[in-house]
Amino acid sequence: MRDAAYNEPRRSAGFRVMLDRQDAIMEQIRIISERFALQLPQKIADFRAAYARVSAAPHDAGALRELHGLAHRMTGAAATFGFPELSVAARLVEQPLRAILDTNAPPAPAELVRLDGVVQAFLACASGNSTPCAHELPALGASPPRILLCLPGAPELQAELSVQLVQFGYQVETVAHREAIAHTERPAAIVATLPEDAEAAREVGRHAQVPVVYVSACGDLPSRLLATRAGGKAFFVLPLDTHALIDKLNVLTHLKPQEPYRVLLVDDSPLEATMHALMFEGMGIETRVVTDPMQVMAPLAEFRPELILMDLVMPGCTGLDLAAAIRQQDAYDSIPIVFLTADASAEKHLAALELGGDDYLLKPLRAEHVSVSVLSRLQRARLLRTYMTRDSLTGLYNHTHLQEQLELALARARRHGGLFAFAMVDLDRFKSVNDTHGHLAGDRVIKSLATLLKQRLRNTDLIGRYGGEEFAVILGGVDAAGAVQVLDEIRRAFEGLRHRTADGGEFAVTLSAGVAAYPGHGELSELIEAADRALYRAKEQGRNRILSTSP
Ligand code: GH3
Ligand code: MG
Ligand code: MG
Repeated sequence: MRDAAYNEPRRSAGFRVMLDRQDAIMEQIRIISERFALQLPQKIADFRAAYARVSAAPHDAGALRELHGLAHRMTGAAATFGFPELSVAARLVEQPLRAILDTNAPPAPAELVRLDGVVQAFLACASGNSTPCAHELPALGASPPRILLCLPGAPELQAELSVQLVQFGYQVETVAHREAIAHTERPAAIVATLPEDAEAAREVGRHAQVPVVYVSACGDLPSRLLATRAGGKAFFVLPLDTHALIDKLNVLTHLKPQEPYRVLLVDDSPLEATMHALMFEGMGIETRVVTDPMQVMAPLAEFRPELILMDLVMPGCTGLDLAAAIRQQDAYDSIPIVFLTADASAEKHLAALELGGDDYLLKPLRAEHVSVSVLSRLQRARLLRTYMTRDSLTGLYNHTHLQEQLELALARARRHGGLFAFAMVDLDRFKSVNDTHGHLAGDRVIKSLATLLKQRLRNTDLIGRYGGEEFAVILGGVDAAGAVQVLDEIRRAFEGLRHRTADGGEFAVTLSAGVAAYPGHGELSELIEAADRALYRAKEQGRNRILSTSP
């Protein structure tokens, strides 16, 4: 029933690079695991010495606590670096020690006997264990995402799309009928012909939570509604814009988040932190590591993490205290924090965290856990931020956010010696558009300009609705003349658009813009004022034009 699957994709350069990077990351993970293995004899010697102190003075709570600390750290680290048995043995030492410490009383002789048993077992295990087992390293999602195509009746489109998808680094599987979808392995996404009714759509939605993209010959409202009701995440009308489709799939399958997520790792063990950082980097997540909990404030402000992964037990302060201190500041009060611990017995205590919106993960960290717990939180946090930074009518950045972005662009250009332009764009005589055609028609004009700006500017340019019928744009890597040229093309395209009135008539609208560029204008306020002045002159000189200010 299945057609040939393209099992050996010819990977595009982009994906090849990603896989090479993953290989490099796996290699680094192997290297730091070996480094841990080399440090192991010293750690065991420390452990032995600490136990000798406990044996000599079982009533010394300090000695007991020290041994407990070593056992606790070994539980987490050994599991992370590929010594699962050693981790179990260390946990068996940690547990009776914890029990003794919790009673706040000197250990009973029976407890000491039990402790000695587990310590000897741990030491025996340590002496027989010197090479990490490779399979305990976290598995990275190394295979390219698989797309399931179900386009019956369009064999040519199916063939063409298969080739293109493979070139962009996907695996492709095609099925000839909707009924066959149920028998396939769970794909990363499905591209399917829009079914004729909701009943038929159920066949397509057989794989729960797999995003579906519908393709249809007809783009009318009933078709779009059917697609939405059938769980479609996107809708494309024929003739198919394959590049737009692939862009969409890139986002849906997380092959290329538009901007990588940022995660801050707070862990007092540099090796473990590095290990986790490598694992995240392997998933395309940007990381920053802090090994001294007292130094957490600076990277919070500079790196602006979207999530914090924090060791629960650290010297100086616990993860919970540190989290509370971070949250006291308004700017970080909603940042998701995921705690890491090797201590499964703390489960009940940790479960309470979830009530507060936080989560915890048990060491060793595995790629599967990360994708469920961490990625879903990152997605949610970013969605929330979207609500705060976007204008609801156009989906463009709002005034505050664009202003922040302008400050960042300025700081970046100063540091790296780059150039960029800032433009203010304003619709001409918009008041009369509203007066003549109504506010709703006016709103549609504002949306059409937003769409045009998004289409015509590059992904790296930043577009905001500055207020009312005023827009602002940050164009990277161009000077004022370059920006004027780009905007003038947009001006001409906009002038050519025909807008509909409620009674079937048509009208056109024009726009004017003022441009100022860095480094010609070196300060934030100067840039904004210069662009505003140029816009004013454009209006004065008759509108429907783009002008720039030279300093
Ligand atoms: P100019 O060419 O000098 O820019 O003239 P103008 O009429 O566009 O400028 P003015 O600033 O006098 O008027 C702007 C108008 O834009 C006033 C307001 O009714 C309209 N406007 C502002 N925000 C919105 C909006 O969100 N939707 C609609 N439909 N109209 C808006
Ligand atoms: Mg105006
Ligand atoms: Mg205005």
